[in-house]
Amino acid sequence: MTNIKPRIHIVGAGFSGLSVAYLLSQYKMFDITVYEKNLQIGGMLKSLTKEGLLIESGANSILCTDETLQFLKEIGVQCVFPLKTAKRRYFFRNRVTRWPLSLIETIAFIPRVIFHLVTRKSFIKFTPKQTVAEWAQKYFGFAFTKYLLSPALQGIYAVPAQHLNAENIFGHLLKPKSEKYKGIVSGKTGMGEIIKCLEQKCLSQDVKILTGEIYDFSLPHDIVIVATSAQDAARTVMLQNKFLGAELEKIKMNHVVSVTCQVDDTTRPRGFGCLIPETAETRCLGVLFNSDIFENRIQSNASNETYIFSNQEAENINQLKSDQLKNYMEKTREIIFKTRTPIENIYKSYWPDGLPIYDHVLAHFQNQFVTPKNNIYLHGNYVAGIGLSKIIKNSYDISNQIKKAYS
Ligand SMILES: Cc1cc2nc3c(=O)[nH]c(=O)nc-3n(C[C@H](O)[C@H](O)[C@H](O)COP(=O)(O)OP(=O)(O)OC[C@H]3O[C@@H](n4cnc5c(N)ncnc54)[C@H](O)[C@@H]3O)c2cc1C
Repeated sequence: MTNIKPRIHIVGAGFSGLSVAYLLSQYKMFDITVYEKNLQIGGMLKSLTKEGLLIESGANSILCTDETLQFLKEIGVQCVFPLKTAKRRYFFRNRVTRWPLSLIETIAFIPRVIFHLVTRKSFIKFTPKQTVAEWAQKYFGFAFTKYLLSPALQGIYAVPAQHLNAENIFGHLLKPKSEKYKGIVSGKTGMGEIIKCLEQKCLSQDVKILTGEIYDFSLPHDIVIVATSAQDAARTVMLQNKFLGAELEKIKMNHVVSVTCQVDDTTRPRGFGCLIPETAETRCLGVLFNSDIFENRIQSNASNETYIFSNQEAENINQLKSDQLKNYMEKTREIIFKTRTPIENIYKSYWPDGLPIYDHVLAHFQNQFVTPKNNIYLHGNYVAGIGLSKIIKNSYDISNQIKKAYS
């Protein structure tokens, strides 16, 4: 008698799909196929090197937990950690500064913080639809919310605090602490290295990776893991479960553009990067100083910087021709750093509907619909957290659940 293994189909060969495929392949219990609609795997993780400039088109690092590090080492990634210069982080308020609040705002803010830290539980409570902006203004005041918290969250979620659901973003503060974050980590040759390592590991464990294949549930399967963006998941799941597809469709998405520039400018401050409030003269959400964060991000003394834009501005930037884009970015740099320097090389990546908006609609979805139904598992940056460390954690959770179901 032949021993037929349960067939697992994974939709999407981005980080979510490949990481869960690799973890499941470790059990040697399943027949695993990953379907990728594009000809290239990796989804939002892509590193290119052009004229000595390393360009990360999506993520540029992962938040480091013990689990993340163990995962990366296990798949063979040569991990690199930030340079000392990356410790300095900046905010923008008319200029680049380490502390964006005025003296008066700081004096008004400190007693509030001390009071809330002492009476910890009383301020960590949220109403279901309360936004981060509403919550933070109530407890920490307007200036802290506008110039510090909102830009910091924009750096992760690509939308300002009034679009984020307070419980979804800070609800974990009420739970016992499970993970300790220890800075960030990347691959020696960039984030693309992680995808290459995952691909090699998957193939060596007999996982089939089919590119140029839009998944449609037509082939026999036992389990399907949909590991795509929320919008692609809606389109995919609709074919099998209209109700779940319709709920997925309600999740709001955000367009994102990242622009990486090579600039010969030795005058700008050195550090991790600069976060920019919504009300600044530029619509840029923030800039990462790549060449100050990790070694080997540029083969010259020039600077490697990545600027992030979202929503309408991302769409506008995507329409610009290359000379218009250069001019636009030189102006953006001038607003931020107060000096106009010619940009030598420039590369843009556009992610239409790239990131989910962590608002109350998504919070409701996560509470009601994430549990697997009819052997369809949902995975991706809208399920358990937007960042890659959360995706790794969810890949472990899903692979453990599936193993348990078949043991
Ligand atoms: C500019 C930017 C910067 C970021 N920076 C960071 C960072 O520094 N650190 C961090 O932790 N996170 C960061 N993120 C977030 C993180 O990169 C993403 O959340 C993560 O990469 C999403 O991975 P995924 O596999 O879930 O989705 P994706 O990367 O979108 O992959 C999904 C894949 O599914 C495929 N697909 C879709 N539908 C189908 C179908 N029907 N059939 C077959 N294939 C299908 C798609 O083609 C795609 O390849 C950033 C995101 C952006 C846009």
